[in-house]
Amino acid sequence: MSATEEQISIVMAGHVDHGKSTVIGRLLAETNALPEGKLEQVRAMCRRNARPFEYAFLLDALKDEQSQGITIDAARCFFRTEKRRYILIDAPGHIEFLKNMITGASRAEAALLVIDAKEGIRENTKRHGYMMSMLGLRQLTVLVNKMDLVGYDPKVFEQIRSDYTAFLERLQIRPVSFIPVSGLLGVNIVSRSPETPWYRGPTVLDQIDLFQRKEFPPALPFRLPVQDIYKFTEQGDDRRIVTGTIETGSITAGDAVVFQPSGKTSRIRSVEYFNGPAKTTATAGEAPGFTLETQIYIRPGEWMVREGQPPLQVGTRFRVNLFWMGHDPFIQGKTYKLKLGALRSPVKLVEVLAVLDATEQGTVEGKSQVDRHDVAEVILETPKPVAFDLVGDIEQTGRLVIVDHYEIAGAGIILANVQTGDSSIEKHVREREIAWKPSAIPMAERATAYGHGAKFVVFASRDGISGEVLARALEQRLFSLHFKAYYLGMDNVARGLDADLSEAGAPPDDPIRRLGELARILTDSGQIFITSLTGIDDYDLATLRLLSSPHEIVVIHAGDIPSLNHSPSLALKPGTDTGEALGQICALLRQQKVIEDTYQI
Ligand code: GDP
Repeated sequence: MSATEEQISIVMAGHVDHGKSTVIGRLLAETNALPEGKLEQVRAMCRRNARPFEYAFLLDALKDEQSQGITIDAARCFFRTEKRRYILIDAPGHIEFLKNMITGASRAEAALLVIDAKEGIRENTKRHGYMMSMLGLRQLTVLVNKMDLVGYDPKVFEQIRSDYTAFLERLQIRPVSFIPVSGLLGVNIVSRSPETPWYRGPTVLDQIDLFQRKEFPPALPFRLPVQDIYKFTEQGDDRRIVTGTIETGSITAGDAVVFQPSGKTSRIRSVEYFNGPAKTTATAGEAPGFTLETQIYIRPGEWMVREGQPPLQVGTRFRVNLFWMGHDPFIQGKTYKLKLGALRSPVKLVEVLAVLDATEQGTVEGKSQVDRHDVAEVILETPKPVAFDLVGDIEQTGRLVIVDHYEIAGAGIILANVQTGDSSIEKHVREREIAWKPSAIPMAERATAYGHGAKFVVFASRDGISGEVLARALEQRLFSLHFKAYYLGMDNVARGLDADLSEAGAPPDDPIRRLGELARILTDSGQIFITSLTGIDDYDLATLRLLSSPHEIVVIHAGDIPSLNHSPSLALKPGTDTGEALGQICALLRQQKVIEDTYQI
C-alpha cells in the first residue's frame, strides 16, 4: 500500500444465515479481490459435489488458504475500489476484536449490517445494533438482503427500514442508509439492478466509498481529562501545570476554562509543550501542559472544558449500554472500578434494564446480573458525582470501562444521565429511619439528665494535625464540665471498626459511611461525638450529614481547606490559638443550643 493510499475498516454484522458471507463473497468477486481462478475452482468443486454454488463457500475456501497469506484471515478480508483499500471485519464473531475496539486499541469507522428480508429483524440483528453503538460506529448501513425471496417488494423493505430505524434510535444511531440487495443474485451490490426500480439510493459499493474516515472534528467542544497536576518547586514559583491528552476540540491561551465536576473556574495562562515548538493553541490528540491564571484546587480525574461551550453532564447515576467480558458476572451489591476519561471511581450496578444474553437466545427478562459476553442496558451509580458526555453528544467522551480484579471486565457507552430517584445512601437512610426503633428514653430527657444536647462535631483540616489538636482539646474541655463528650480519630476507626475493609471488594467510601452510622448511634445516645478528618470533600460531608440524620452535624474548618466548597458552621483562621478557637466553638455550641448560655468555656 502506498503511503498516501487511504484505507478504512468496515465491520460486518448480522444474524446467522442472513447472508453476510454471501454479500462479502460477492463484493470480493466483483471487485476482483479474489486470487486468479478461485471463483472457477469453487464453482467446479460445487459441481463435483453436486451442490449449488454458494458465495459463502468462497470465503471458506479462502480461509483454508490463510497460510498463503492472501486476501482473508480468520476475521478479516481485504479488497480495494478505485477510491481506496478496505478491510472487512467480522466483528461480533470475534470477542478479542470487540475488546480492542471498545478499549480503543483498534478502530473501525463504519459498519454494514445484513438483515434477511424474509426473516426480518432477529435477536442478533438487535444484539449487533447494540454492539455497533458500543463500538461507536455511527456510520451504519443496513443491507436488506434476500430481496429476491420477497419478490423485491418495496413494502417489505420499508417495514424493515422503519422498524430497525426505530430500534437504532434508542441507541442514538441514525443509519446512513438502507439498501435492498440480493447477495445471491448480485442485486445492488456493485451495480444497480433493474429488479428494484423503486430504489434510488447507492449500491453497496457506492455506499462504502461514501463512508467517511473518522477525523478529529475540530468543531467539537474542548475536552481535556486531567491526568495530573504538577507543581513547580522552584523557589517562589507557585504555578501548577495541568496535563492530559486532549480528547476533542481545541483551546488557546487566554481562554476561560471550567473544571468538572468541581465547577472551579480559571483561565489558561500558557500552553506548554515539553519538547516541541511553542504554540498558543492546542488541539485534540495533543498532550501539552497548561498553566492557569489563578491557583485553584483541582484533582486528577476532573475534566477541563472551555467556558461558553456545552459542558459535560454531571451526575451519580447514568444509563449505560454495556458489553461484559469479565470472567465473573457483573452483579449488584459489589463495588467495581470505573474508568471514565482520567477518572477512577468506585461504581455499582444498581439496575439491569435489559439483557441480550451471550447464548443468543434473545432478550432475557428479569435478569439481575450481566454474564460474560452479555450485552446489557444498565443503570450505574457512583458514590460522588462524576462528569461525562452522552455518547450521542460526544462519542469519545461518552464511553466508560469497568474494571474487576484489575482487568477490563466491561465496556460501555453512556446513553443518559438519570437523576431521578434517591441515591443508594438516601434510600438506605430513609429505610433505616422507618425501621429505627426509638429508645424508650426521649432525647429531651437525656439532654436534661446530661446537661447538654447531642451533636456530631466534625473538624476538617488540611494536615489532620491541627484538626486533631482542636478536637482533643474540645473533648477535654467538655469532659471537664462533666459533659458526655467523646473524641474518636479515624486511625482508631481504621484499626477496629474498619479493619475488615481492606479485604477486596469493600467500597473505598465505606470508612465515611461507617463513621456516619456511628455518629447516628452516638448522638442518639445523647453524646457530643467529635472527630477530625482530612482529605475529605463536599460529598463526604454530605454523606456524613445524611447518615447522622435525624441528628445534626457541626462542621468546623481548622484553617483553609481548598478541597471543600461548602460553607462550614465555623471557619477558624489558620494559626488561631487553641484557647481562642475553643471560645469560638463554644459560642457556636451555645448558639446551636447544644450547651446552655450559662456555660462559659
Ligand atoms: P451468513 O451466515 O450471514 O454468512 O449467511 P450466508 O452468506 O452463509 O448465507 C446463508 C444462506 O442464505 C445461504 O444458503 C445463502 O445462499 C443464502 N443467501 C444469501 N444471500 C441470499 C440472497 O440474497 N438470496 C437468497 N435467496 N439466498 C441468499
